[in-house]
Amino acid sequence: MKTQLPAKILPGATLGVLGGGQLGRMFCVAARTLGYRVVVLDPDEGSPAGRIADEHIKADYLDEAALDLLAARCDAVTTEFENVPAESLRYLARTTRVSPSADALEVAQNRHHEKQYALKAGLNPAPYYFIESEADIEAAVTAIGMPAILKSATLGYDGKGQAVVNSAEELLAAFQSMNKVACVLEKKIDLALEVSVIVARNAEGEALSYPLAENQHRNGILHISAVPARIDDALADRARQQALALAESLGYVGILAVEFFISGTGELIFNEMAPRPHNSGHYTKDACVTSQFEQQARMMCGLKPGDTRLTSPVVMVNMLGDLWDPDWASLLSHPEIKLHLYGKAEARPGRKMGHFNVLASDIDQALDIATQAFEELQA
Ligand code: ADP
Ligand code: MG
Repeated sequence: MKTQLPAKILPGATLGVLGGGQLGRMFCVAARTLGYRVVVLDPDEGSPAGRIADEHIKADYLDEAALDLLAARCDAVTTEFENVPAESLRYLARTTRVSPSADALEVAQNRHHEKQYALKAGLNPAPYYFIESEADIEAAVTAIGMPAILKSATLGYDGKGQAVVNSAEELLAAFQSMNKVACVLEKKIDLALEVSVIVARNAEGEALSYPLAENQHRNGILHISAVPARIDDALADRARQQALALAESLGYVGILAVEFFISGTGELIFNEMAPRPHNSGHYTKDACVTSQFEQQARMMCGLKPGDTRLTSPVVMVNMLGDLWDPDWASLLSHPEIKLHLYGKAEARPGRKMGHFNVLASDIDQALDIATQAFEELQA
């Protein structure tokens, strides 16, 4: 018997989002462009998304009265924040349509679980060992070898909650400095390249992937994404197939970002996933038929995925709060640059304030313009 699928939610309906950061803000813009109303739940009065939503419910993610209000207002709810409590999604799902599911969110919130899941779906994570206590350290060193990277199992982001270690002593010290929370020890890979794939999947299982982004980080934070990634087509196709397979095995509904490493020997290695639109997918706003944020609205509403085709080579550059106040006039003097600012009042080091996309006829040209524009910005 065919299971009955939920009806499609159409423009004019109201969509909810947990979290009011820049990802939620860009979701609001895309959803409102399609004609939906948007309600944001976020504790921060001045949150970037809350300020441009139709309605901002200013409350904690665990506040049941606020969740009841959100569910009553909305035909469907999603999240833009990876560490929103899974319980909140579970609570909302009793009375409204929620995607991604609390179960999928929980897998993505825990590095140990996400690696287990990736293995089950046929992906290839770096060799790892789960560390729960000091008693596991010796076996971890034997299993993984050195050098390695210790990562807290939960709550890490932008390179936080991790340490490179070169010996059992360094590992012990790093584990202690992380207050002995559950961790994974991962083999340190000789990286040739880092890439990511965004997947969109709806409740009917209709799914599409986006072209691979090639990612460069600075101080553990994404600096540049270049698309299409400069790798051979067969490897890119394999990464896209693996990302789709992972989404399918999770029964995932929504936008799933999957990060991969490509090793010096050309091996494709699963790194991590994010259960939401991703910084490395911001290029889709200007260089794809359908942006990852429009796609998020389509998926939660049970609509068909929009075309993921790349319409131009593109380079995205992140702008952090380290060097503020940038020279906007100089940036905007480049006709091929598209600026996106998140409306954050206060600039702090490492804080994501905005990004710009450079559209050009090839990646090399886009990279040249991006580098020049980024330097001028800080001059
Ligand atoms: P985050 O949640 O902070 O993005 P990641 O696990 O993606 O955490 O790690 C951040 C960065 O650290 C990666 O983008 C990569 O540059 C580097 N890194 C992480 N794990 C490894 C590894 N096993 N080998 C080599 N480099 C790694
Ligand atoms: Mg990462």
